[in-house]
Amino acid sequence: MEFEWWWLLSLPLFFGLGWVAARIDLRQLLSESRALPRSYFKGLDFLLKEQPDKAIEAFIEVVKVDPQTVELHFALGNLFRRRGELDRAIRMHQNLAQREDLGDEQKLQALLELGQDYLKAGLLDRAEEVFGKLSDSPHRETVLRHLLDIYQQEKDWSKAIAAARNLAERTGHSLQKEIAQFYCELAEGCLLDTDPDGAKRYLQEALQSHRQCMRATILLGDVAASAGQWAEAINAWKRIESQDPAYLALVAEKLLDAHRALGKEEDGLRLVRGYLERYPSLDLMDVVFQTTLAREGAAAAYRWMRDELRRTPTLLGLDRLLEAQLLEAPLDRRRDLELIRNLVRHHTRNLALYCCDHCGFKARQFYWRCPACGGWETCPPRRIEEREGVAA
Ligand SMILES: [Zn+2]
Repeated sequence: MEFEWWWLLSLPLFFGLGWVAARIDLRQLLSESRALPRSYFKGLDFLLKEQPDKAIEAFIEVVKVDPQTVELHFALGNLFRRRGELDRAIRMHQNLAQREDLGDEQKLQALLELGQDYLKAGLLDRAEEVFGKLSDSPHRETVLRHLLDIYQQEKDWSKAIAAARNLAERTGHSLQKEIAQFYCELAEGCLLDTDPDGAKRYLQEALQSHRQCMRATILLGDVAASAGQWAEAINAWKRIESQDPAYLALVAEKLLDAHRALGKEEDGLRLVRGYLERYPSLDLMDVVFQTTLAREGAAAAYRWMRDELRRTPTLLGLDRLLEAQLLEAPLDRRRDLELIRNLVRHHTRNLALYCCDHCGFKARQFYWRCPACGGWETCPPRRIEEREGVAA
């Protein structure tokens, strides 16, 4: 077959068409990248290099050049809040909430963010006001959660109860334990105002909300004790055993005081010793030790502690044993004993703390509400030594 030379003439045409096509693609690409300011890419570059400060500066530049980038405004605002730059976060979200060109949904989102900025800044009144505007919005569940947090921080327990009930109804998630605690807070307020009848009413409400509320049972005993009704107080505190024996540690001292007031200290001591046998606890051990020491002297306290230590060997128990021994020891042995005791005490310092199950916060004192994470009943009344099984 003869080669047809005229075909060669079409080659430049094909090259020409390819060149035109390439230019069209290139032009489109260039126009698209021009739509995003250079600072945007610079910001991304800084983010990838993990330099958030420079990234923020670059993004602020984008926002100035192109106010249409609403999503970037939101992202920056949240970034400011996370970094604790609350003034900047508040300004950004205030501007967004006031912008005429935004739709309703975005304005509500801006208000929600603004409320969270105020909350983090501790401006509770303003946060409450902003969240109040969102109570009928699609964000109402989130808003209720934040309001519940605010009312607890403000110690406005009546409002907290209403918010918790509302939230539980919407989510189907029970908040009975928390509601009972709010009633206990109200009852404690009444006790401070010497209004025992008011306190009793709140405590009944607490137990109706959550039958296992140990704090309500303990406070019912406290109300009776404050009126000198010792037998009634003892009966209330004894009920803790059937609720959760771990919490007996919180009433052991009170039980002894009430028995003492009735002239029956020995019965009280027998009762608490019985608890200790059935539910070993460092706090119960300490109460029995101190009472034995006060009632029967150092020698008896030492003997009792030695037997207890054989049964449940703990460093905190050893510390008490040395304490009793020190009281009895002749002068020449006292120095050695003190040295040993200081060594033991050094090791037990961190073992004698309570610890939050939720966030790990540690404290010498018992809290119904964790001061760090705000969880209710998340710090059980058990010292770290017994919980971590250091004794074992
Ligand atoms: Zn906690």
